[in-house]
Amino acid sequence: MLNKLNYLDGIHKTVLVVDDEYVGREILGAILGGQYNIIYAENGEEALQMIRNNEKILSAVLLDLMMPVMDGFEVLDVLKEDARYRSIPVIVLTSEKQAEVESLKRGAADFITKPYDTPEVIIARVRRIIELSEKRLVIQSTERDELTGLFTRSFFYEYAVLMDRYHSEREMDSVSINIEHFHLVNEIHGREFGDWTLRVLGEAIRDHARENEGIAARGDSDEFYMYINHQENYDALEKRLKVSLSELSGTAHIKVRIGVYSGTADSRDVVNRFDRARLAANTLRGKFNRTVAYFDQDLKHKVFYEERLINDIHEGIDKKQFEVYFQPKYDITGAKPALSAAEALIRWKHPEFGMISPGDFVSLFEENGLIQIVDHFVWEEAVSAIRHWKDVYGITVPVSVNVSRIDIYDPDIEKRIDGLVKEYGLLPKDLHLEITESAYSDNADQMMEVVENFRKKGYLIEMDDFGAGYSSLNMLANLPIDVLKLDMKFIQGIHKDKRSLRMVQLIMDIAGFLGVPVVAEGVEVEEQYKLLKETGYQLIQGYYFSRPVPAQEFEELIKEEQGKGEE
Ligand code: C2E
Ligand code: MG
Ligand code: MG
Repeated sequence: MLNKLNYLDGIHKTVLVVDDEYVGREILGAILGGQYNIIYAENGEEALQMIRNNEKILSAVLLDLMMPVMDGFEVLDVLKEDARYRSIPVIVLTSEKQAEVESLKRGAADFITKPYDTPEVIIARVRRIIELSEKRLVIQSTERDELTGLFTRSFFYEYAVLMDRYHSEREMDSVSINIEHFHLVNEIHGREFGDWTLRVLGEAIRDHARENEGIAARGDSDEFYMYINHQENYDALEKRLKVSLSELSGTAHIKVRIGVYSGTADSRDVVNRFDRARLAANTLRGKFNRTVAYFDQDLKHKVFYEERLINDIHEGIDKKQFEVYFQPKYDITGAKPALSAAEALIRWKHPEFGMISPGDFVSLFEENGLIQIVDHFVWEEAVSAIRHWKDVYGITVPVSVNVSRIDIYDPDIEKRIDGLVKEYGLLPKDLHLEITESAYSDNADQMMEVVENFRKKGYLIEMDDFGAGYSSLNMLANLPIDVLKLDMKFIQGIHKDKRSLRMVQLIMDIAGFLGVPVVAEGVEVEEQYKLLKETGYQLIQGYYFSRPVPAQEFEELIKEEQGKGEE
């Protein structure tokens, strides 16, 4: 059992005492037992066994040289040969001068002479040796993060596992902390200031962890972790971090997000618990009045739901649960609106969850690349529909498909889309590619290159959700695009307030300057439609004309359109 607690950032230091004589073990145990957790071995072989079993938590070994079965020298030789054990300092216990020299040569860190000095001397020596070896570990730096001196993530996880093992009765919280928009802090105030911020935060986090018998680590960039005793609430931490950050600088407004997962009892592995804490922290994105979030039932359901979706996607595709809907775009420049194109929008009819809209899964599937599976399916359905309408109605209804930012990184994207267009005997201009505005700023160079190549071949590129991202006008002037799709938000209020309307007019001017048409998306009511027409908008998509509908229903719209022509 563990003795009185004594923490190295919360980890109890363990010392192995190896001596064949009972009295020798008893004396050292009595002297050091107040400070360390002592474990014992009676000979070299037992010692090696103990070292193997306790490798990760062993701070030092006190080793008698003269022992039966296997003596101390042999133990030293084995330890020296093995990288896992080399960093554990060994203090030899001996009464012979000659043996001291020999054992230092064989890798011992220090020695204590028999008969033993006063307890204070022994305690001081052991402490010094442990400190030295810990410092060496810091320098070797795999255990510690250089900037903050906190544990690195992998060591932190290992220690957390040990804490669970040795203190299974403790109720623990897994805490994930990060800084809102840390990359902006770096960009605006400089790297040095960024580093300073991390150090200040790291110090406060370490202090808090210590006070709550826990450990702390820094992961990538601005991610911090704490594994500490369960807290009723996180007011104290919140306050502490606020105070230490306020010391930084009056001008830099730095906000942290704290995510908490409570509980060890459900036997989730450590990494998983911290994933959950981080998920909780991420729910605070953009919530400026809150700093702390807990992994609660809602989040738990969301995680289960998302895990299910990820799990079910392949079967969903195989069993044709996915269906492409089409939403018409109308040309409003003539006397009567005319059906001119369509957007393909994915729907998932899940056997258990019912109809799932892309809002639930597109960004989820973008995170793990699965979106490509969906998009490839949609592209093929789209070209096949264009083909079908050409054959049956003798007209071409160009279809826009959504191209995820993830698709852009796929080196085979051009080949795939070209292949589909050829296979179905279409022209590139029959297929429009919608790419959301924010994707352009992710990786501008690659995006430009891919988009340029498509345009050269004759595909039309539409910039989706225009105005929701952060393109500068300067950037916009140089973008290779053919159509702007105005983000829905802009349309919402135009029939209610003048400023919104004015905004939509300004965007029309910009589009005019760029020489590209604009599609107004999300048009729901007649007043919006009329105002847009007056402003000079040419293309409109929205519930006012039609919701996205299954292919068969879309055919009715085509028939209707053809009927109009015969009137
Ligand atoms: P988006 O590409 O901007 O598509 C337009 C969204 O607005 C669609 O939502 C459409 O149903 C909705 N909408 C159209 N008219 C109106 C209206 O008048 N009022 C309102 N309130 N909404 C309207 P949906 O189908 O739920 O798709 C949401 C987003 O999911 C899409 O936004 C697109 O970014 C993404 N998405 C949809 N299908 C796919 C796909 O096949 N692949 C990829 N990568 N993303 C897709
Ligand atoms: Mg779109
Ligand atoms: Mg859009």
